Amino acid sequence: MRLALFSALVSASLASPARAQRPFKVYISVDMEGVGGVVSNEQLGPAGFEYSRARQFMTDEALAAIQGAREAGATEILVSDSHGNGQNLLIDLFPADVTIIRSWPRPLMMMEGVDSTFSAAVFIGYHSGTSNVSGVRAHTMSSATLTGVKLNGVEVPEGGLNAAIAGHFGVPVVAISGDDAAVAEVSKFTGPVPGAVVKRAISFHSAATMTPKAAQDLIRARVKAGVEQRASAKPYVVRGPVTVEMSFKHYRQAELLAYLPMVTRLNAHTIRFTGKDIVEVSRFIEFVNSYSPDITP
Ligand SMILES: [Zn+2]
Repeated sequence: MRLALFSALVSASLASPARAQRPFKVYISVDMEGVGGVVSNEQLGPAGFEYSRARQFMTDEALAAIQGAREAGATEILVSDSHGNGQNLLIDLFPADVTIIRSWPRPLMMMEGVDSTFSAAVFIGYHSGTSNVSGVRAHTMSSATLTGVKLNGVEVPEGGLNAAIAGHFGVPVVAISGDDAAVAEVSKFTGPVPGAVVKRAISFHSAATMTPKAAQDLIRARVKAGVEQRASAKPYVVRGPVTVEMSFKHYRQAELLAYLPMVTRLNAHTIRFTGKDIVEVSRFIEFVNSYSPDITP
């Protein structure tokens, strides 16, 4: 009896340090327009001639980011496939202990699953926003419908919005990859964190790009550096209440959304919604971008 109790105590004390150690979690949000080699519409969706290659490049960049994060000590990785249909990443090529978020809609959009247990967030394959005059495929969430998104009066690209969602949970963005325009733009919100510029934007559909292998090596090194330096990165916090203004290319969305009592129409193309925090605002934006009356299960 005593011996059993003693051995139980010994094994408990041996096991407890490992058990007490908090997992070191890193969140990786992956888009496609900012992936090395990606320049045109034909690469961005299943109907395009080079899509299968582009999703391989995207997958390889995500894997490079995972490797960099692990080299910096990360023990748990959550990846969100945050482009197009949300089913671009070749999930069978990922390590068995990585979890991947797929498809839409999601209340936290490109940051679904992030919470205060994460130590750092990383953006891979990001592009510049719709108000930026440069950048490959520069747009904010939907190039077909949206001409601008502002949070508390400040125009934000996807990277800014996503940094604010991470920041709500106290999570800093520690590394970014994309073209030169995207890395410069997102850095305005995250502060000067390591950036992997994998291509230089020439026009909306042209870039001078690194080869996939060179881009992956750069991403791995920059993500490792970013995660290592996470203590010096500051979460981007947008204090509540948070007001979002969305401007639409066509005014019918603005007209109809203004039927909702919580929505104000600012002008023909622009509506405003105020939520208590960025989480409420994210749910609102995702609703606006996802709802259609002919939704089927
Ligand atoms: Zn995208």
